[in-house]
Amino acid sequence: MKSLMQQALELWNEQVANWPLAAQFYGSLPQVLTREFVYDHTRVLVQFNPARVHSTTAKTDAGSIAKRPCFLCSANRPAEQREVDAGDFLILVNPFPIFQQHFTIPHKQHLPQQLLPYYIDFLQFAKELHEFVVFYNGPRCGASAPDHLHFQAGNKGFLPLIDDFNRNRHTLSTLYQSIEGAQLLRFKGVLRKVWVIEAESAGASHELFVRLYNSLPALPGEEPMMNVLVLYENKKWVTFVLPREVFRPRQYFAEATGQLLISPAAIEMAGVLITPVEEHYNKITRDDIPDLFHQISPDMP
Ligand SMILES: [Zn+2]
Repeated sequence: MKSLMQQALELWNEQVANWPLAAQFYGSLPQVLTREFVYDHTRVLVQFNPARVHSTTAKTDAGSIAKRPCFLCSANRPAEQREVDAGDFLILVNPFPIFQQHFTIPHKQHLPQQLLPYYIDFLQFAKELHEFVVFYNGPRCGASAPDHLHFQAGNKGFLPLIDDFNRNRHTLSTLYQSIEGAQLLRFKGVLRKVWVIEAESAGASHELFVRLYNSLPALPGEEPMMNVLVLYENKKWVTFVLPREVFRPRQYFAEATGQLLISPAAIEMAGVLITPVEEHYNKITRDDIPDLFHQISPDMP
């Protein structure tokens, strides 16, 4: 039996060879433009990636969602899109990539986007897809299908937040809680609010995730606004929880010269700001980035 990792890589090779849409956008990925901004302990990339226009401008309000066929349900997916069976979930190649290899991992059923009941599945994917970081966008935090439960995965080594953490783990982290096999840390001084759970067992990671989840502000009946990323390395899960106060910054809605079409989701919160508009890519300044992060996720005590 092939590992899930191997099956995912084979799927990617097959899709890039046989699905023209995937071939086109993975083929143009090397031409994506990148600017780098470095702050004290934080590195941020800004990318101009025209393939992301639909995701960046997705209307995710309940009315718009109800009117469109769900693109993660099997019945509505393109005929060329193949899948790998992964228990209750499927692994699909994302044809509009940010990562060199970028996957969407929808649940087989059309269930609302929520993380807590599926957190152990989330960890399991990180362990099995060990070359990738696995991530989750909350329903009002950048998920373009808030009505269909899904994770995403992409190559390790691309997201600056994870490098920032590995480099400054011992100087910028404060221990908040510790249980047998897991620790909850606050990673400070990186422009936005970041919690990290390091765990040797999935159960202990889950326990600390539940505690953190219950401590975050939330509207009645909704999960706390957040983006979450997890990777498995050196026999440990490292989960990054990025709580949020708003979905899109005011620059997203601004007119003409003031506008920056950047719609932050997990990838943006992990340090890669994507815009599908070349002019916005060119005009973003060093001061805009801390301002964007501060609106979404102020790094307060
Ligand atoms: Zn669906």
